[in-house]
Formats: sequence, structure tokens, C-alpha cells
Amino acid sequence: MKILVINCGSSSLKYQLLNMDDETLLAKGLCERIGIDGRLKHERGADEFTVDAPMPDHSAAIKIMLEALVCKDRGVISDIGEICAVGHRVVHGGEYFSDSVLIDDAVEQAIKACFDMAPLHNPPNLTGIRACKQNIPGVPQVAVFDTAFHQTMPKKAYLYALPHALYEAHKIRKYGFHGTSHKYVSMKAAEVLGRPYNTLKIITCHLGNGASVCAIDRGHSVDTSMGFTPLEGLVMGTRTGDIDAAVVPFLMEKEKLTAQQVVDLFNKKSGMLGLSGVSNDFRDILQAKQEGNTLADEALESYYYRVAGYIGRYAAAMNGVDAVVFTAGLGENSALLREKVCAYLGYLGVKVDPEKNAQRGRSIDFSAPGATVRAMMIPTNEELVIARDTKGIIAK
Ligand code: AMP
Repeated sequence: MKILVINCGSSSLKYQLLNMDDETLLAKGLCERIGIDGRLKHERGADEFTVDAPMPDHSAAIKIMLEALVCKDRGVISDIGEICAVGHRVVHGGEYFSDSVLIDDAVEQAIKACFDMAPLHNPPNLTGIRACKQNIPGVPQVAVFDTAFHQTMPKKAYLYALPHALYEAHKIRKYGFHGTSHKYVSMKAAEVLGRPYNTLKIITCHLGNGASVCAIDRGHSVDTSMGFTPLEGLVMGTRTGDIDAAVVPFLMEKEKLTAQQVVDLFNKKSGMLGLSGVSNDFRDILQAKQEGNTLADEALESYYYRVAGYIGRYAAAMNGVDAVVFTAGLGENSALLREKVCAYLGYLGVKVDPEKNAQRGRSIDFSAPGATVRAMMIPTNEELVIARDTKGIIAK
């Protein structure tokens, strides 16, 4: 059974074609510069190629992607009809969706109803769905939401301390994101530990350019660091994470900014980029620190401190923790980051084995002997979760 996974941005479209009989990746790629000019980067194992082709809209990009998939010499399927279903990453499902769902008109309307809460993500996600319907007609389409996994959070975790009427009127609350990743790595951690998922208390740290921590109590997300939007929580590549809301009017007044300009500043120019003044990429900041840049050093220390703080908070929320899991760009690739965060966690019973921690590319439990809380690195695979959910839904 072949399933196409689509992650559609405003000017880009990432895709993977998976054979779900054995969960292998057949091909993957990226259409970029949609609406500008258009470029396809396609990979089939070690075979990679790039095509510059006009992509005035997402529908045109999908046509070019499909051509690459069925291409006579380098394609992986002989006919588009081999695609059994399409799974779409949709960022915001609001309170409408606590699970993945087969897309129909009502689902499209609900995705649209969440536009205000995810103006950069949900509109292109819906565009991708409509473009797939146009180009692969009659094939079931499934929406997999970043927020759905966190719909199990209790009210005490998701309500902001605003007048309750505002929650009721506008659904202002914590939603959380990266749900597919938190779900995947927590399940995989249970598998690696050889213990039943529904008996474990796990804290997952998805640390990429966007970053969030999640408390998973016996299989259910009970709290997470991102909020109403992905701005809340950790220090991220370019996002502030937690900040006193009173800074907004203060900056508007002092810097003569509009509210939207302040939000842009918080989302795009802050975080590690803002603190270090160097870059949003951890590698550049580490390099700058080595060259004696003190702002880079301080940015890194703030980053570790904030992650460790959330882990402590969630260990308290669950009255204990069995495993702390690191994933995504930084969580998977930076042994230093894992070591620095874990250095705060001795009181919990975390102990790091530096040799195990130095390994890359596969799931590892890098705990030292005597650790009572496991420290783990699990590579995430959000596309696989989307494909699995899609397969599950069409099987019904
Ligand atoms: P993601 O959003 O999950 O793709 O993560 C991207 C981020 O991971 C980059 O911006 C880097 O900050 C970080 N990253 C990737 N590779 C490394 C590495 N080898 N060492 C440290 N950070 C890394």
C-alpha cells in the first residue's frame, strides 16, 4: 500500500511516498519557490535530481511532483493510481480534532475555521489538500494535526488565567504543537526500553528550529510548552518562547511598533538569533562561542536552562518521570546540548554515559549505570506517523 505524505507551506511543499506494507521510504522531495519560479528537489535513495520548472501555484507543484514519481527512468511507481491515499500534515486543528480524520467538506471548513489561530500554516495546508484533490481525484485524503495529540491535556494545563468568557468566546487556550513527533518518539522510547507504553511517564523534548517539551503520562499528553500558537515555551531558533505579555505594549510605545510588528519581532528576530546576534542555527552559535563571543555563550546557557526548567516542571506535573527523550535537529545531533540539559537533571536520577551520548543516527539510551531516569535520543519521523494514521483511517 503506497501512501503519499504532504507537508505544504506557503511557498514550499515537502512530500514522501512510503510503501506502508513494510514502512519503507520510496522517494521524497521538496517543491520550493512556489508562486515565485519553482524548483523540485527529488530523492530516490542515493539518486537525487533537481528540476527547475514553473510552479505558479501549489497545483502546478503537485503536477511536477507526480511527474517525478512516475518518471520512466527514475520514478518509483508506474502510475498515479498506485497511490492509495494522501496524508496531509495540518498544523492547527483547534478543539475540533483530537485525532486524524478523513477529509470531507466539513473537515475542510473546520481547518478553515482555525485560520486565525495559525495564519501562516493552515491556509497553505488547506491549499495543499485542495491541490491534491484536483490532481489525484478520488483518492482518500487524511488530515493529521500537530495539535491533536495534545487534546488529552486537562483543563488545569490548557487554560490561561484569563476571564473564562474569553476562552468560551474565542477558544483562547493552550493547544500545543509537534504532536506527531512527541507521539512517535514517546512510543518508540517505550519500545526501546521494552516496557508497555501505557505504564510510562515520559518527557519528550522536540528541539529543532521550533521547539517544544511534552509531558506524556501513560500514553497521553498532559502538558506541553507551546501554547495558543507555537510562540510560547522554550527559547527557539527565532522565537522568544515565554515572555511577559506586558512587554508587547511597552515595545509598541518605546519602539513605535504596531502589535503585528512586535509579534513578528517575537517570532522571527528573537530566540537564539536575537540573544546571540549571530544566527538561529545552533552550529553557528557554538562556533561563535568557541571564538569567544560572550553573547553566543549566554544564548546557549539560556537555551539549556529553559529546557531543563520545563523538564523539572513536567516531572512535578506527573509526580515522576521514567524517561527524558531528545529529538529533532538539535536534540538528535547535538551531544553537547543533551549533556548540558542533563547536567541539570541529576536530582531526578538522570546520569549520562558520554560514550553512548556521542552516538548518532539511531535510537539510543545514553544513561550511565545507576541512572533511575533514562536519558534517550530517538530520531523523530513525523511523516511515518502521518502515513500510519492515514493507513489506519482508510482501513476503517
Ligand atoms: P529542525 O527544525 O528539526 O530541522 O532542526 C534544525 C536545527 O537543528 C538547525 O537550525 C540547527 O540549529 C540544529 N542542528 C542541526 N544539526 C546540528 C548539529 N550537528 N549540531 C547542532 N545543531 C544542529
